[in-house]
Amino acid sequence: MVWAAPARCINQNLSVMGEFDLIKRFFTRPTPNAVLGVGDDCALLQPSPGMQIAISSDMLVSGRHFFADVDPRSLGHKALAVNLSDLAACGASPVAFTLALALPEADAAWLEPFSQGLLALADVHGCELIGGDTTRGPLNIGITVFGDVPKGQALLRSGAEVGDDIYVSGTLGDASLALAHMLEERYGKDGVQTVAQDGAKASLPQLPVADLALARQRLEWPTPRVALGMALRGVATAAADISDGLLGDLGHILERSGVGATLETALAFRLLGAHHYSAQSAELLARPELRNTVLQHVLSGGDDYELVFTAAPAQRDAVQAAALASNTVVTRIGQINGEPGLRLLAAQGRILDHHFRSFDHFADSV
Ligand code: ADP
Ligand code: MG
Repeated sequence: MVWAAPARCINQNLSVMGEFDLIKRFFTRPTPNAVLGVGDDCALLQPSPGMQIAISSDMLVSGRHFFADVDPRSLGHKALAVNLSDLAACGASPVAFTLALALPEADAAWLEPFSQGLLALADVHGCELIGGDTTRGPLNIGITVFGDVPKGQALLRSGAEVGDDIYVSGTLGDASLALAHMLEERYGKDGVQTVAQDGAKASLPQLPVADLALARQRLEWPTPRVALGMALRGVATAAADISDGLLGDLGHILERSGVGATLETALAFRLLGAHHYSAQSAELLARPELRNTVLQHVLSGGDDYELVFTAAPAQRDAVQAAALASNTVVTRIGQINGEPGLRLLAAQGRILDHHFRSFDHFADSV
């Protein structure tokens, strides 16, 4: 029910397409795995014997997590991808999801590509849309995903042990690099405040247009590392997905595990995908004056949705086998230590004085 009188229907689409038509048209599909899908007060899932249910929610807010005019197809993809990424971090297999949607208007021209982007990724992972809520309001997308994982095998943040290797999947930093460029394009240099704390504003690498487009793909079409997460069951000791930046998300593992870590910055530096886009980018990014900027994006840039995980050195072959089986590159970038805190190790064993920060929505309010 609503407390406020409904806003007058100025949009033609809304008068011809009400809330229930909208749900039926864009968000109701067969759900062969669920006991009951969209249409009742609750959906019903039947857990498989011996499995535990992994549950996670992530919300995307217009103007906060995406530009209001972003391609709706990519937004649909990303809204589910960021949730699947949480299942991946736990080593869970996707089963179903619900969608809570606040929309300023029922615009079929927007809803069509949005639902297509969303459901195409759902199909890739066999993750069924089983319910949700739809309301008028500022554009806001809340998804809850349900996955399953054999009892006791979920990857947790709390399992890292002293001596473990630290790995990340894929590449890091390109999403935040693309975002910094888009913010600069829209708002000028002052708009760039995502990861830049010092100097990065002035030295945003001016990559070739084609390479910037690749970096932007990473921001708008993230790939959740579901297969890798599942392959790491029984191999990784701890895992998290990187949504707010490597240092912050690894920091969560360290805190929950009661350990510290050393990262090798030379290895981290190479993780920026743009190094590998074109010879021109590789050459540009290798310039010493850009080193700090690159590191900042790799270490603190958000929105990559890669996995950071730990595993005992005895599992190095098993980690590579998991990477191969899931067709994902993984890179070893450091080690877990007993000494609390996170140290960045530069060349010749020098400890880098770092103040790279990860993204925190409420960082300014405390
Ligand atoms: P209720 O009033 O009981 O909360 P609603 O009338 O809001 O239920 O929704 C009717 C049905 O449509 C429910 O099964 C609900 O899960 C589903 N639903 C509502 N919005 C969405 C959505 N955006 N995507 C998928 N299913 C939805
Ligand atoms: Mg109800």
